[in-house]
Amino acid sequence: MSENRFVHLAPTHVQKLVAYDPGHEPSEIRRRLGLAEVIELGSNENSLGPAPAVLNLLAKPELLAQRYPDAGGGVLKAALSKFYRLEPRHFTLGNGTHELLTLIAETFCSPGDEVLYSQYGFAVYRLAALGAGATPVAAPAGADLGAQANELLKAVTERTKLLYLANPNNPTGTQWSITQLREFLQQLPSRVIFILDEAYVEYVEPNEGDNSLALLQAFPNLVIARTFSKAYALAGLRVGYTIAHPDFANMLERTRLSFNVNSLALRAATLAIADQAHIAMVREQTALARMQLQDALLALGLRVLPSQCNFMLVHFGPSCAEIEAALVGCGVIVRPMRGYGLPDYLRITVGTEYENQALIRALREVLPH
Ligand SMILES: *Cc1c(COP(=O)(O)O)cnc(C)c1O
Repeated sequence: MSENRFVHLAPTHVQKLVAYDPGHEPSEIRRRLGLAEVIELGSNENSLGPAPAVLNLLAKPELLAQRYPDAGGGVLKAALSKFYRLEPRHFTLGNGTHELLTLIAETFCSPGDEVLYSQYGFAVYRLAALGAGATPVAAPAGADLGAQANELLKAVTERTKLLYLANPNNPTGTQWSITQLREFLQQLPSRVIFILDEAYVEYVEPNEGDNSLALLQAFPNLVIARTFSKAYALAGLRVGYTIAHPDFANMLERTRLSFNVNSLALRAATLAIADQAHIAMVREQTALARMQLQDALLALGLRVLPSQCNFMLVHFGPSCAEIEAALVGCGVIVRPMRGYGLPDYLRITVGTEYENQALIRALREVLPH
């Protein structure tokens, strides 16, 4: 990095920080290449869009601009409370889950503390640790690139404060069953806060009794994080939440910004969670589109990792970087995985049929024959 005249004024851990890589910005690509349209399949957004009631709200958002938001998020917490049949004091709202994941590290970690996650775990965990001045520790992944319970447990030390696990994980799509989660929590020291990031849980076919919330009672160190960014299709509004022991929620209440979730986001999320028929539709449509896309990618001779989410990890081999650059040239954005140490893979979001076909057409052009 070239000389930054402020860098030496920051604490050492901030000097070492690198900003989160958000992938390609569609408007920038459109402008740079002079394209009429860009297909964005790089950020796991939901192309099917939000519930109809949210679209109505967005037609007249100015009503919500004038006053400060409800700092306690009372209406949204009441809606979450009704949906989950849990008291409102279990919930903490955030400016996306990203804010909460970071806030948890800032709240609990001192320099020298360790933050544990699996190799190929979601990139934010490492950044959250570094931002808090803690030491990130990645436990080796398995052959499927997923988290291994024994490796994570082996990596726990006296300094381990937090453990982040995305289930299913982005970008690998790997997943633990509720039984695996329970057995893991039984072995994890209860002083380690276990953050179970379920950003994609709405995409997973719900099984009777297969619900992580059932673990909260037995394991007070469990924190479940969910978001309105993915299946609810509100990524631009920034709302996420944690479900945890009320004492944990009380700690975040002390450290969060007072108006961290804005009025429009609060209202939209409240309307969104009330429309579970929309979420069921999103789940079914996405599953169908995912199967079609997977078949088309397999037909191109590519290796596709299993996924129950709205994205999949695809192996392109050693010419991956050139293929990705060529796709951008065709106006198709997917996510390179270099930053994860997976340079031969691209992460592809499942889009609409139209978007998926545009991707497949572009791939037919750019793949070496
Ligand atoms: C997208 C994502 C999030 C949620 O991000 P927001 O800040 O809520 O938009 C969290 N965890 C994982 C693993 C994700 O992929």
